[in-house]
Amino acid sequence: MADAYVVLAGKLGYAESERLGKLLRRLMDKEEAEIVASLPCPVAELAQKLGKKEEKVNEMLKKLFEKGGIFMTSKGYQFARDIFQLHDATACDVRSDKVWGRELLDLWEDFLQAEWYADWAKIVQTWKMPLWRAIPARKAISKETKLLPSEDVEAILDKATRFALTSCSCRRVGTRCDSPVEVCLQVNRAAEYAITRGTGRELTKDEAMKIMDVAEKAGLVHSVFNGSVVANVICNCCADCCVFYYPLTKYGVLEKGVAKSRFQAEVDKVACDGCQTCVERCPFEAVDMVKIPGEKKLKAQIGSEKCFGCGVCAVGCDSEAIRLVEIRPPEYIPV
Ligand code: SF4
Ligand code: SF4
Ligand code: SF4
Repeated sequence: MADAYVVLAGKLGYAESERLGKLLRRLMDKEEAEIVASLPCPVAELAQKLGKKEEKVNEMLKKLFEKGGIFMTSKGYQFARDIFQLHDATACDVRSDKVWGRELLDLWEDFLQAEWYADWAKIVQTWKMPLWRAIPARKAISKETKLLPSEDVEAILDKATRFALTSCSCRRVGTRCDSPVEVCLQVNRAAEYAITRGTGRELTKDEAMKIMDVAEKAGLVHSVFNGSVVANVICNCCADCCVFYYPLTKYGVLEKGVAKSRFQAEVDKVACDGCQTCVERCPFEAVDMVKIPGEKKLKAQIGSEKCFGCGVCAVGCDSEAIRLVEIRPPEYIPV
């Protein structure tokens, strides 16, 4: 049999990558890698192949599932379908720090920076529609504004039945900012997965809502799957570490991968006291301070091209000088 690590790296499109090989060797031992390379495969067959009892094979599969190396699918356990899935599952697991310290996370960072980010940007460049979408902070939306269910944090949580909090894999790997890490909100199926695996802490709906408040205060961007279906996850992303925002900005294809919300920030120049908090908070460098004739202080101005309509600026404006205005119709959200 070919080297199982090479087989696994090949399944993810990186058979030649020494960096990914090193990471996989850290994640699983040789015997585990051989099992994973044989998946999907009935347990009885695996047991026969390995000369082990079924009970032992089941134990090994469970351990691999808990580590994030394999996933339960309709065909039984399978290896990760792509780099994205393996990264998310393994890097969010704070329990692994006891085993590896930062070693596994640093191996991820090395591989992503040196190989995957550039490839990822090339893939995203070919997308016809962004897969990810920013949705507005609830504290930035006025009471009169009617949000669609797929862009309304409160409506998403209202419809969900189960909630789990996991750590942000991107910030654990990237460490390029000091934003909170425990703010990834899994709902429904994704929550079940996190709770079963032991990587997620179950939350009540009220607790989940409080996490959204923490994220908004910290200047993180609520982000969801770009469709009209209600999300399985509400990510709270930063532009420094997120596997969407960071590399896609770096390679100039952000809007190919992430859709703006239907909103755009607007500044009330009279109410603006020129404090510049919004300039510091905006993750997309969409705010400039400009001179207005007759005014002593500089005033904030939103660059419409750059604004993602996340509302992070409005949440941080103590003068309540920023509001989000609806500039795109409901049809903008893909079905
Ligand atoms: S997508 Fe966003 S919230 Fe989710 S893990 Fe990455 S940065 Fe964290
Ligand atoms: S945070 Fe508000 S008050 Fe401060 S500069 Fe921005 S718009 Fe003006
Ligand atoms: S100006 Fe920046 S922070 Fe404000 S809504 Fe636009 S992208 Fe978000």
